[in-house]
Amino acid sequence: MIPKEVKSIIKKLEEAGFEAYIVGGCVRDVLTKKIPIDWDITTSAKPEQIQKIFPRSFYNNRFGTVTAVTGSKNPALKEIQITTYRTEGKYLDKRWPEKVEFVGRLEDDLSRRDFTINAMAMDAKGNIFDFFNGQKDIENKIIRAVGDADQRFSEDALRMIRAIRFASQLNSSDKENSTWQIEKETLKAIKKHSAAIGLISVERIRDELEKIILSPRPSAGIEALKEANLLRHIIPELELGVGVSQNRHHIYTIYEHSVLSLKFCPNEKLEARLASLFHDIAKPETKRGAGEDATFYNHDIVGAKVAKKILRRLKFPNEIIEKTSHLIRNHMFFYNIGEVTEAGVRRLIKRVGAENLKDLIDLRIADRLGSGVPKAKPYKLRHLEYLMAKVSRHPLSVAMLKINGNDIMRLLDIKQGPIIGALLNALLAEVLEEPKLNTKKYLENRAKELAELSVEKLKEKSEKVIKEKKEEVELVEKSRFRVQ
Ligand code: ATP
Ligand code: MG
Repeated sequence: MIPKEVKSIIKKLEEAGFEAYIVGGCVRDVLTKKIPIDWDITTSAKPEQIQKIFPRSFYNNRFGTVTAVTGSKNPALKEIQITTYRTEGKYLDKRWPEKVEFVGRLEDDLSRRDFTINAMAMDAKGNIFDFFNGQKDIENKIIRAVGDADQRFSEDALRMIRAIRFASQLNSSDKENSTWQIEKETLKAIKKHSAAIGLISVERIRDELEKIILSPRPSAGIEALKEANLLRHIIPELELGVGVSQNRHHIYTIYEHSVLSLKFCPNEKLEARLASLFHDIAKPETKRGAGEDATFYNHDIVGAKVAKKILRRLKFPNEIIEKTSHLIRNHMFFYNIGEVTEAGVRRLIKRVGAENLKDLIDLRIADRLGSGVPKAKPYKLRHLEYLMAKVSRHPLSVAMLKINGNDIMRLLDIKQGPIIGALLNALLAEVLEEPKLNTKKYLENRAKELAELSVEKLKEKSEKVIKEKKEEVELVEKSRFRVQ
């Protein structure tokens, strides 16, 4: 269970007369049966002593951490962080400790950590050192601050959003009723200090928010941020939809619908999930009229802009900002079977970009499921996907041949006339039956042979085959998308 690279570091430290343990997130991951993304070690050895034991290591002065290079190819084990037991002195500004102080006891090091589930250590044999009942909290699925919650959040405001991030990440998407909860006093303290989240750098908030959005239960995370009074400081635009009703087509308020759309988004990509959450972000400001007849004209266009503003403010990468906003801009595309032509679908693909079609359909599914409509992918959306595949597919036409009309005229020394088209179709019929024949050499030779036949004879040879092949492809696609 404990990788040999980690065991070997602990062993070397112990042989040199120091204590050493696995600590923090990786112990939590082992106990919750998740694969740790990194392994951290804590030790009684001071940074200079650690460096002596591991010549291939480097020291980060600011964090007092020595990074040992293991030579492993596994990214989780390539470099292992070794940190001397320490407590953090007074916090100056709710962000960074004034100074770190090295201490002699494991327990003191664990007491500075944020949550009980993150404050356990494990030795190389797998024994757990748990001074704050982290194991019990794991069993009961509780996020609880170590020590006095009030003090811990006033020391470092980032811990508030971390609490919600851990709850979202530890949840699994399937077990609806066994949910990680933030312990009562801990939650109370977060609410009390919520405004201090504004002191934290936007990059650190963004990293936590991204982890919440990509977690198995992102919607529960957004709800928890709202309940903890943090959402209003991070994405106030979302709260504008709280309690705002829509119209006769909707049973949920704008805010409820946004969160539910995120919940049902069938796509793991950040931009698709963000688009689900923000697709109706401009509905509050574009709402006209009231009750059943309210309208939200242009909420897609305005929403794309508002989402851009939010994501820029939160310093998401440009690519994510552009893609999210592009999806929102296009989420209202019209599609009714029988009313939209193949040319219309072609225009939609051109506007949206073939590479974004799946994300856009997924957004539409999220939107639909978030409206309380039962069927995820109705016949209408499947039919659209079928038409999209049909208009995007390589056409079964003479254009796919490795020879063209000009080649044939030159080759046979003949002029433009019905024989050219008839020859190309005859060659196409052969290639459709045997794709390997589509080489310039074969087609040139074969064109010379076929030129002996009349236009009528050539047509007779090709028409039936081409028609049958086209029908065959159509049937395969129809069954693939389950449309008749
Ligand atoms: P992951 O790496 O999966 O995001 P993690 O728990 O390992 O989660 P890190 O940010 O890597 O989180 O931090 C490692 C450990 O350091 C935590 O488990 C916790 O014990 C401690 N820690 C991290 N940030 C804080 C903080 N802001 N306040 C107190 N302790 C913290
Ligand atoms: Mg970690």
